[in-house]
Amino acid sequence: MSNMDEFELIEWIKKRFSHLLKDETGIGDDCAVIKEKPEMHTVVSTDMLLEGIHFVKSRITPVDLGYKSLAVNLSDIASMGAIPTASFLSLGIPEGIDIKWLEDFLAGYLELSEKYKVPLLGGDTTRSKTGITISVTAMGEVFKEKAKWRKSALVGDLICVTGCLGDSAAGLYAIENDLLDDLAQRLSYRHKHPEPHIDKGRFLSRFSQVHAMMDVSDGIASDLNHILKASGKSAEIDLDKISLSNEFQKFVEEKKLDKYKLALAGGEDYVLVFTMDETYYSKLNKLYYEEFNEDIYVIGKIYEGKDQINYLHGGKPFDFGNKGFRHF
Ligand code: ADP
Ligand code: MG
Repeated sequence: MSNMDEFELIEWIKKRFSHLLKDETGIGDDCAVIKEKPEMHTVVSTDMLLEGIHFVKSRITPVDLGYKSLAVNLSDIASMGAIPTASFLSLGIPEGIDIKWLEDFLAGYLELSEKYKVPLLGGDTTRSKTGITISVTAMGEVFKEKAKWRKSALVGDLICVTGCLGDSAAGLYAIENDLLDDLAQRLSYRHKHPEPHIDKGRFLSRFSQVHAMMDVSDGIASDLNHILKASGKSAEIDLDKISLSNEFQKFVEEKKLDKYKLALAGGEDYVLVFTMDETYYSKLNKLYYEEFNEDIYVIGKIYEGKDQINYLHGGKPFDFGNKGFRHF
């Protein structure tokens, strides 16, 4: 912010995002004003990204970081079965930051905002004495009876995911080890530029046979546990069925990495994990395939019992040892 003060920056943000406004009042007053819809739940989620903790400035481009800052929040909106309706962006900016960096950050944020037509309705801008601080709040709406919760898994449900697991963690490994070959770059991109599964979440919300749902941000081993705790159930995951991309499999083989650890505990995949009535699977999968041109991946099943995941490999119980996966 060398030659632009806070108010100029806010004005500049307001102009660049104004075309996304619908009938809300956004930046420029003391509050944003949003019209309520009685038949809808409003869902809200906030995430904070701190330089040095959630990202390293030299290892992610500002465009990717802007995109990702919003993407991780929209993924939370998607996991409720909602569609995003607004975002708020608060920035802590260190003295002397390159204005080009801010422009590029906002260009990435705008790119995803435009993709889903999400207006930016406000935020806050302050100086920071440490690093860059980014806090994003996203709002969404979902018909009241269609919202999906973590608490709704039932015994006998299939456990399903809407994408591949582990690509992002493999990408992070590539970034941290400065790997630049084609395969490494493609996986790194998955880490730096996650796609929130908004359309898939919205699609799945329409079906009452889909029960619990959430997004995978910390790794399925940890995130599925939240569903199990909230629902009071246990789960079995078949390691031979977890969805792994060809790129991921090639990469972990080449680099001799622990593929299950990366896929189950790596995190930041931002796919959705949900549970559903087994008897409806083939019907739903057909409709899903028509819409998204891919299958729903089934990776396990819900059982009676205390929140715990049991793993299968080659049809037999598989023990990861006393550490398990929860503690990575
Ligand atoms: P106040 O002091 O009343 O909080 P501000 O000067 O902080 O007002 O903000 C003025 C307006 O600009 C508000 O509508 C606020 O939501 C918006 N705003 C401030 N910072 C940002 C930002 N980084 N991105 C989007 N809107 C912002
Ligand atoms: Mg303020």
